[in-house]
Amino acid sequence: MINIEAILNEIQEEIQPYLYQGNIANYIPALAKVNPDQFAMSIILFDGSSYNIGCCDTKFSIQSISKVFTFTKSLNIYSKELYKRVGKEPSGNPFNSLVQLEYEKGIPRNPFINAGAIVVTDTLLSHYKSKDNTFDNVLNFIKNISDNQNISFDKEVCESEYEHGFRNLALANLMKSFGNIDNCVEDVVKTYFKNCSIAMSTKELARAMLFLANHGVDPITNHQYITSSQAKRVNSVMLTCGHYDASGEFAFHVGLPGKSGVGGGIVAVVPKIMSIAVFSPRLNSWGNSLAGTKALELFTTKSGLSIF
Ligand code: GLN
Repeated sequence: MINIEAILNEIQEEIQPYLYQGNIANYIPALAKVNPDQFAMSIILFDGSSYNIGCCDTKFSIQSISKVFTFTKSLNIYSKELYKRVGKEPSGNPFNSLVQLEYEKGIPRNPFINAGAIVVTDTLLSHYKSKDNTFDNVLNFIKNISDNQNISFDKEVCESEYEHGFRNLALANLMKSFGNIDNCVEDVVKTYFKNCSIAMSTKELARAMLFLANHGVDPITNHQYITSSQAKRVNSVMLTCGHYDASGEFAFHVGLPGKSGVGGGIVAVVPKIMSIAVFSPRLNSWGNSLAGTKALELFTTKSGLSIF
């Protein structure tokens, strides 16, 4: 078996020069206030043993990582029907792009770009009826898969994003004009922002992802959240679409299903072995954590644990 502790210690050293490269997300003003030089990495195995470096207990805004959880929930409710409203192909475009959506008639390419996650939120809103009930169900799901009741959202980030959320409102309005948003646009976008503003540490995120490394069953509690077929789909879409127009880049360098967020977090799954979360707020030009991506690349290179 590989020595995870030794590998993490090497990463801790080798990652240092990368911590000062890239830029923090500033289009959400509340996110721009975060200390940009932070770094954390957490790994958890199926027996619950965990390995951590850096500020692994610091909570940060999970942002688009929430899209993994909302897609999982909606897939569980609607099954294949969901794909009538959102695709499963990489977009090759930035996460907040409007262009493709116009010529593809309001059907987003996949659930991990903003437009896709907004449609997914709309499906959840239709199912759970109200904004509050929808958010409570999303948050409860995250608490359950994390086996941790102490998870909440950051009101300041949520409000800050809504005040500056013109592009996401534009995406939602455009989709509404094509008939692909059933609920009130404002309710859908507000709920989407609230999901994005959920705050978690790398330790908590790694734990939350464990069921996806194990065919939909939490290996610690043995609870089945989704079928193994659904878990396969969520992992596949993470591999092909989890990093927007840098998904190929991430697969090439890291070789794992993964999902990033503009808060600087990335989650990744080593099927049947472990889940990983990293955090470093400075982003590369595609909006993915620069040092976080590098840390994952170092990990799969040193451990030989990629899916390829
Ligand atoms: N809440 C962010 C947005 O909609 C999420 C984007 C991201 O994490 N890539 O812009």
